[in-house]
Amino acid sequence: MSQVVALHPWKRAEHLTSENNKLLIDGVQAESLIAQYGSPLYVYSETRLRENALDILCNFRREHANTRVCFASKACANLAVLKVFKDCGLAVEVNSGGEFYKACVAGYKPADMVFNGVAKQRGELREVIAAGIGAINVDSLSEVQRILEVATELKQQARLTLRIIPEIQGGAAAGWQTGTSSSKFGMTSLEQAAAIELIVQHPDALKMVGVHAHIGTQVNDIAIYEAEAQFLIDYVRHVCEMLPYPLEHVNLGGGFPKNYSSAQENFSRVAAHYGENYRTSIDFAQLSRHLIKPIAAALGEQIEIIVEPGRSMVSDTAILLSRIEARKQRQNNPVYYLDAGYSVLFDIYHGWYFHMVNASRADDVQTKNCRMAGPLCDSSDTYYDIEGEGAVSSLLAAEPALNAHRSVLEKVLVNQPNLRELPADTGMGDIIALLDVGAYALENMTEYCGRQAAAAVMVDLQQGSRLIRRRAQYEDLLNYDVD
Ligand SMILES: *Cc1c(COP(=O)(O)O)cnc(C)c1O
Repeated sequence: MSQVVALHPWKRAEHLTSENNKLLIDGVQAESLIAQYGSPLYVYSETRLRENALDILCNFRREHANTRVCFASKACANLAVLKVFKDCGLAVEVNSGGEFYKACVAGYKPADMVFNGVAKQRGELREVIAAGIGAINVDSLSEVQRILEVATELKQQARLTLRIIPEIQGGAAAGWQTGTSSSKFGMTSLEQAAAIELIVQHPDALKMVGVHAHIGTQVNDIAIYEAEAQFLIDYVRHVCEMLPYPLEHVNLGGGFPKNYSSAQENFSRVAAHYGENYRTSIDFAQLSRHLIKPIAAALGEQIEIIVEPGRSMVSDTAILLSRIEARKQRQNNPVYYLDAGYSVLFDIYHGWYFHMVNASRADDVQTKNCRMAGPLCDSSDTYYDIEGEGAVSSLLAAEPALNAHRSVLEKVLVNQPNLRELPADTGMGDIIALLDVGAYALENMTEYCGRQAAAAVMVDLQQGSRLIRRRAQYEDLLNYDVD
């Protein structure tokens, strides 16, 4: 196996390697997976899933044994993935009746689940309360009222955890922040005071079991976690004074970051903000010291700490393989068209960065500047930011003085590098691997433009590959139409 790690910083021991110039994932050749299962194809690593689960459990429980990790299933609710995590000892977080259903099918017990959502429906509440869900993370006063009605009807006690707004700006970009009252999530402390009063008045139907906060996604500043810990310590103490019984848990949410910058050299070419958002040195060990440890020290061994990591559990567990189907030359650069666009990898639509490696020429140096596009009939279906680039050029044309502030404009308006580096011999039929695509991908696929959702396989260091999601067929396009 090739060891040119310095030239190829995307390589990771065992997980992503190369042999005879071909990319391997967990020892399985990417091109042979395409030959067997077709393109485009998601490839999940079972080994990596298990490593992540073990990593967070060991690190967090070292500081606080009474810690429960609820995988946020909206990040990847594939049955095979859910089952692997269950086998590793994780609990699960669900965001809808549908995710609750899938988690039940995967074998999770309702008592091991927490249920989030800003607009839970009466039917969903009935299902989860009847099943005895571990906690409903309540998002509004109107929801407490609704739960009271449903629980009274069912003659069952519902277990409530109130989601507080800590007024902390987590999340590297504005749209990634969920911990302030300008976002749509959570309750203010005033609203919570009213909710707690209502809960205490109806002990047969309602029990307050915890406090919850979730401040953003890809939160990559350790000071924000320290602030969250301090806020929750104070807030839990405050709530305990209002309750006639002890609180069972404090739920810190998720949002933990992962690196999307396997190849550092590519990042030096794009705006600085770009690297800030996608590169992080924060790992579970550091989170354990700065978030879990202070809470455990202040609130004691009795209280259970719950976390709800999604992205950080799965993003680095999968790659997407996609074939080059067309090529043209524009200005000085080639444009390559992949068979996967935003209908397969939705996050590129709003400018998320995924690093690319040519799986067919894995050891060739990646120095050729290319534009990369998807197959859909939509200008936004590109692996560069056509809207942002257009906005910057028209602003500069209208007001040349703004040239002095070009980098500020790009910081606000452009969210993807305009060029990718690939090997000089890159050509038709090559397989391109997009790295770190494991989160928020499978469930976000659509059939836009009559395109079929991609298949997914799981690879295992010992056992090779197995299908975990079938490729959609033409007939699937008729699934929902009625004539
Ligand atoms: C989405 C979500 C999570 C998971 O967030 P990640 O950024 O994927 O870790 C956790 N808790 C709640 C309430 C969520 O909405």
